[in-house]
Amino acid sequence: MKAKFEKAFLKGIRKHAGIKKQIEQKVRRIMECPVELGEPLKGNLRGFYSCPIKRNFVIIYLYCAACRKRGDAEIVACSDCSATPDETIKFVLLGPHDEAYNIQQ
Ligand SMILES: [Zn+2]
Repeated sequence: MKAKFEKAFLKGIRKHAGIKKQIEQKVRRIMECPVELGEPLKGNLRGFYSCPIKRNFVIIYLYCAACRKRGDAEIVACSDCSATPDETIKFVLLGPHDEAYNIQQ
């Protein structure tokens, strides 16, 4: 499994350095079973998965094998999807629930 970290995600880690250990643990677990751990999002966040780190605090990510299986690569904001192997996870961002669901597209 390959992992890519978006700028907003890395910024989130710096901003929430106090729970860095928990974030790292969760990232590792998501890389082991991205589909089982993630809750698929709907609407304009279709294709994205969210996984809680702690109460009201989530990681948002894309799993490219799932992007393609759905066949909605144009809807899913997975920019360079065709250039990545199936087994790629893109960690998009992390933060408090309400902030994280406010992804700019
Ligand atoms: Zn993708």
